[in-house]
Amino acid sequence: MPGRKILVVEDEPDIRKLVHYNLAQERLQTIEAEDGEKALRILEREKPDLIILDLMLPGLSGLEICKRLRERPETTRIPILMLTAKASEADRVVGLEMGADDYLTKPFSPRELVARVKAILRRSDMQSASPIVEVYEKGGLKMNFATYEVTIRGKPARLTLKEFELLRFLVQNPNRVLTRDQLLDRVWGGDVFVDPRTVDVHIRRLRKAIEKNDRKPEWVLAVRGVGYKFDEKALEK
Ligand code: CA
Repeated sequence: MPGRKILVVEDEPDIRKLVHYNLAQERLQTIEAEDGEKALRILEREKPDLIILDLMLPGLSGLEICKRLRERPETTRIPILMLTAKASEADRVVGLEMGADDYLTKPFSPRELVARVKAILRRSDMQSASPIVEVYEKGGLKMNFATYEVTIRGKPARLTLKEFELLRFLVQNPNRVLTRDQLLDRVWGGDVFVDPRTVDVHIRRLRKAIEKNDRKPEWVLAVRGVGYKFDEKALEK
């Protein structure tokens, strides 16, 4: 992992210094930006492996930056670790809904920061190591992983980012029982504060968006007491 480039967007110099120091110990390189405007300018010329993004920034807020990065094809895949002083669940959920991969609540311990950063980099390594398939198409389902477009039985479907990620992970692991923990880990980034029932809520919404009859799902099946399974054969029906 040494040599990886991490963009740190944070207006408090002390925290930037703390992050820089601790990542440098791991031989990770940092680029620093004190606000969102500067971060966006840096991103025009640099492609970091991870962005550490403070939520409360002067000017553009962390959420706004996160949203913009996710909308642009050239930055949509860069993992984001959000820093937040707010511990309320609503803020965490909004951050993750906006496409952050994980978050840390301030004050955080340097060890925790380093552990999260390494976990995210490992996950993104695993994802980039798998062959890049831009489009999945089978039976009534078509997903474009680059543009985030989903078509269900010929009609465009509107999925939230989390629903999209959930469906992506399901289609990439067809006919396998996936536990709630696995889904949490891959879609919510192993966030310890997310309740496993969050998975059920998102599955319910996903089914509403993609199943013919969400009360009798055919594609995303529940496996009692364990988790869920994506039935690829049912797509051909
Ligand atoms: Ca701040």
